[in-house]
Amino acid sequence: MTSEPAAAQPGPELLATAEELAAVVAGLGDRISARYPDGVVVIGVLKGSVIFLADLVRHLRVPAVIDFLAVTPYLAGSGRIRLVKDLDVDIGGRDVVLVEDIVDTGLTVSWLLAELSRRGPASLAVAAMVDKAARRLVPVPVDFVGISVPDVFVIGSGLDFAGRYRNVEGLFGADPVALAADPDVHVADLYDR
Ligand code: 5GP
Repeated sequence: MTSEPAAAQPGPELLATAEELAAVVAGLGDRISARYPDGVVVIGVLKGSVIFLADLVRHLRVPAVIDFLAVTPYLAGSGRIRLVKDLDVDIGGRDVVLVEDIVDTGLTVSWLLAELSRRGPASLAVAAMVDKAARRLVPVPVDFVGISVPDVFVIGSGLDFAGRYRNVEGLFGADPVALAADPDVHVADLYDR
């Protein structure tokens, strides 16, 4: 009996090119500018939102104050999220857009909306580069959605696996099992092109 050659590792699947994403982000910039003619406070959730936020704010044609916060990742079982970096600005009475890399289960955004609402903003909306609605555990209002994807693990444009791939342009679906076995499995595919 001859043994079959090992199946080739599937490469990352292109979900959106850098150009497609840029067009979507420009459109979101227009919508946010139209909604907040007097300006807006844009809050990025570190670190995944950084690339999206930097692109988005350059498409805003209204004054924008930019700030960041960071949370511990939600760990199944622990049931809790904690702020590890708080805002510098007071959002009381301000129009606020919370900028997320991806809304997956919705647990992080839902926790953040509750936390930020307690500070009395005039309004609070959510902009997400990627929406993975199929995985939602808690309903959250995502006012400004970039790209909707099915239930795939997404990397690129700020989204990482173990710190890798954030600076890859565009969005890719990758196999989380292959990444867990070798976090660098897609380095050659995504950087040497
Ligand atoms: P949640 O499940 O609370 O909606 O998502 C929490 C965080 O998990 C996201 O902000 C993001 O950092 C991370 N996450 C969720 N889905 C993905 C994904 O497909 N790819 C990557 N790289 N991170 C994800």
